[in-house]
Amino acid sequence: MLLLEKAKRGEITKEMEKVAKIERVDVEKLREGIARGKIVIPYNNRRGSKINTNVPEIEPKGIGEGLTVKVNANIGTSEALSSIDTELRKLDAAVEGGADAVMDLSTGYDIDKTRKQVIAQSSIPVGGVPVYQTATELRRKEKPLVEMNTEDIFDVIRRQSEDGMDFVTVHCGLTLSGIERLKQQGRICDIVSRGGAMLTGWMVHNQKENPLYEEYDKLLDIAREYDLTLSLGDGLRPGSVLDATDRAQIQELLVLGELVDRAREADVQVMVEGPGHVKFNRIRTNMEIAKELCNDAPFYVLGPLVTDIAPGYDHITSAVGGTLAAVSGADFLCYVTPTEHLGLPGEKEVKEGVVASKIAAHAADISLGNEYSLERDRQMSIARKELNWEKQVELSLDPERAKQIKKDTNPQKDKDTEDKDSEDKSTGEECSMCGQYCAMKIADEALK
Ligand code: SF4
Repeated sequence: MLLLEKAKRGEITKEMEKVAKIERVDVEKLREGIARGKIVIPYNNRRGSKINTNVPEIEPKGIGEGLTVKVNANIGTSEALSSIDTELRKLDAAVEGGADAVMDLSTGYDIDKTRKQVIAQSSIPVGGVPVYQTATELRRKEKPLVEMNTEDIFDVIRRQSEDGMDFVTVHCGLTLSGIERLKQQGRICDIVSRGGAMLTGWMVHNQKENPLYEEYDKLLDIAREYDLTLSLGDGLRPGSVLDATDRAQIQELLVLGELVDRAREADVQVMVEGPGHVKFNRIRTNMEIAKELCNDAPFYVLGPLVTDIAPGYDHITSAVGGTLAAVSGADFLCYVTPTEHLGLPGEKEVKEGVVASKIAAHAADISLGNEYSLERDRQMSIARKELNWEKQVELSLDPERAKQIKKDTNPQKDKDTEDKDSEDKSTGEECSMCGQYCAMKIADEALK
């Protein structure tokens, strides 16, 4: 029986129990959130089963209303760069940075092998975008994507599900009428979603409706077989802050809302994906419209990036937008790395992207009143006041970086800590920022 089916029947599963414990929420409340479609736990039913022994059990992650904001990291081979080993190292970097999920978006080398290895090695849920693999496999047969047979894409979805994918992005809400709307109104950056652009090419060339929309029931059948969570992609998401919240974007969202209802009726867990590039003052509107039209389905956003002029720093432009998005209702943030719009990220950029999104997620959690998240900030403030450097490093989102900066900028004081494993002897000592004018020390003396 599917997780959503069980939740609707009032049954509490071990995944629900684990998530409730991690999130410190009442398990019955969690079950009710799942039953109403406001929370999902992406967890392929092949995990831990004897059917496919290469799909390990993982720590389940709850995404949705009343839970902490989650972060996804995209990894995956490309034709131009990288290898399976590199992607596995990126997976480790993402987990080390605190990612709650990864998506394997491989389009290079052996895609099936890469996915299997990522799933076998990952301790967190794994997702994918099947249309990428569909396009790559056709190209390898020297066929353009426009020659795709609709069964090609369903075959990849089945294969990815069989291998243990927990969630897939499927651009089901992209329709011929949505494309027509886009053409009529015009945009600066027409379509920036890779999957959206691929399907648009196929639909326009063949003058046929999107197979993922037209044959949505077939998709639901596959999802039911594996308890696969659908992440309804936004093929027409804006790729420029000047394109955001336009009619094409909203038209697709209307369709997605209807598809959410159909997935829930079929007991298939479903999330909805959102923008993209949005001006800061429009983020709240975007989140509220999406939540309203999609009946409070968990909302998964890419960024949003709040300006288009910072290539090299788009982990920051997206963290700025991601914070407001999460405060306004987004439940799941897809990271953006410093190499966004420029090239494929390496391990270092993967970690930077994850940490930037974790900052956004945590900032939203404490703003939304999560007392357990806020406790970490309280402990950090106490450690700062006490000039307790070890504790500050320990509480950091990126302890390794905090420790390194402290060491590099305080060469004298930290000379005893050359050995990485040795205890930090500088507790109680000011850092090089204000030196003898350390406000913490001066105030401590004055207020004793
Ligand atoms: S020297 Fe300045 S920055 Fe460093 S601990 Fe004291 S107050 Fe903080």
